[in-house]
Amino acid sequence: MTSEQLFFDKKSGFDRLTEDDRVRIAPYAEGYKAFLDTAKTERDAVAELIRMAEAKGFRAYDRTMALHPGDRVYKVNRGKGIALAVIGQKSLAEGIRLAAAHLDAPRIDIRTVPLYEDGGMAYFKTHYYGGIKKYQWLAIPLELRGVVCVCDKGEIRKVDVHIGDKPGDPKFVITDLLPHLASDQMSKKVTEIVKGEDLNLLLALEPSRTEDEKCKDKVKLAVMEYLHAEYGMTEADFQSAELCAVPAWNACDIGFDRAFIGAYGHDDRVCSYPAATALLALEDTPEHTAMALLVDKEEIGSDGVTGMQSRFFDTLLADFCRAEGVPPEICYESSMCLSADVCNAFDPNFPEVSERRNDARAGSGLALIKYTGARGKSGTSDATAELMARMRTIFDGADVIWQTGQLGRVDQGGGGTVAMYLANRNIDTVDAGVPVLSMHAPFETIAKLDLYMAHKGFGAFYRA
Ligand code: MN
Ligand code: MN
Repeated sequence: MTSEQLFFDKKSGFDRLTEDDRVRIAPYAEGYKAFLDTAKTERDAVAELIRMAEAKGFRAYDRTMALHPGDRVYKVNRGKGIALAVIGQKSLAEGIRLAAAHLDAPRIDIRTVPLYEDGGMAYFKTHYYGGIKKYQWLAIPLELRGVVCVCDKGEIRKVDVHIGDKPGDPKFVITDLLPHLASDQMSKKVTEIVKGEDLNLLLALEPSRTEDEKCKDKVKLAVMEYLHAEYGMTEADFQSAELCAVPAWNACDIGFDRAFIGAYGHDDRVCSYPAATALLALEDTPEHTAMALLVDKEEIGSDGVTGMQSRFFDTLLADFCRAEGVPPEICYESSMCLSADVCNAFDPNFPEVSERRNDARAGSGLALIKYTGARGKSGTSDATAELMARMRTIFDGADVIWQTGQLGRVDQGGGGTVAMYLANRNIDTVDAGVPVLSMHAPFETIAKLDLYMAHKGFGAFYRA
């Protein structure tokens, strides 16, 4: 045999791309970019996914419904997570094909008592969400998104807040120090140049013109007057709000060849979007029930009612199984899961953190990741050789351009995904996702080829 036959060689995706796929990459990327601009929070993403699913004939599921092969249903978890399913021909005892990804992304959350005035300007106190490099969030335009549950004499009214996303809207900013006065700051460690407590969001300057003699904080008052006029809220209503600041820029093409997309929130919408679109695109009834499970709270450990560790998924599967008289444990045991999350793309600007043979490369396709974790594979599910073999066979059989990935050099750092929580349920699980440059930055970069291959790969998996 020749070395070509005997060696495993990580080729560029472009060497393997068929003309059929080549023409599909750019149009698919346009849909994804529009999704990113709409879906900057998990709530926004869920609302958009419901719209997309209903347009494809999916119905809201409730546990009294009888399910039949070919049925298309979705179930929302508190507006922050969603499961989409196409019921398959086989019994649930034969297992499901599950793609699990997350909809939350690192951002700057607004606190419960956030509003104050200092130096003649009004600010929000914040608490960052997820693993960010804090300095990257200074001096960039931010927009405000979320909900406020306004409590008024026993009545609760939920209002949506989107400020900064429409043309002509104002935006917000967390200011940084000028270099001229930054000699102390510049000599500090990067983790200390701005403290979490100092990530305060600039809101306003102009004082209220009210005659209120007792009020000392006229700028703060002007902000509350605005918010009351706009949303009917008082300062106390911040206690029942989920507001966050997210980057105010939209997704755009990067490079002369437009081969990349730069945007906020690729992690993990670059996996959750294709996991959903591949499911919505299933024309025929698949053999096994196919499900895209898109959850919240991955960036802070998958805890909570909307995270992967919540019983939401178990309850939904139990409801599906009960209708068929199948114990859910039997369904889990025969299921397969792609834990769809991003990995780092090899970055020639920072080669020292990568190991070239094993790290994924931008443009080499969907990355299959046997294990993540840190310090000797801690905090990972480490997929079995048998499962890796099945996935290789599925992807190769459908001409999916794929590669293997990992999370950098051994002992360089590491990280986890939702994979272990699914694997702990006795579901055969392996990570697969799109390689990302500048992961967790307010502006991340991915390759369109990899995005499209994620869509194609998840489709092949659902049909397997
Ligand atoms: Mn992720
Ligand atoms: Mn992440």
